[in-house]
Amino acid sequence: MDNYYVDKQKLETGHHEVHKEWCIEIPPLEQQLFLGSFRTDKSALEEAKFFFKKATICTKCCGN
Ligand SMILES: [Zn+2]
Repeated sequence: MDNYYVDKQKLETGHHEVHKEWCIEIPPLEQQLFLGSFRTDKSALEEAKFFFKKATICTKCCGN
């Protein structure tokens, strides 16, 4: 299980990225929204979509 966060600030594409807590690309604290602890990236992404319709996973820490 990993702890996941979603970036409250959107990218230029309009997407909000989901990161694992150890990701080097994770945004500053005040810009993170804690999603919870999940077994898969997909579960974290589904949770993120409740907050941001255009949520996506970060390619650095997720999707492997
Ligand atoms: Zn990441």
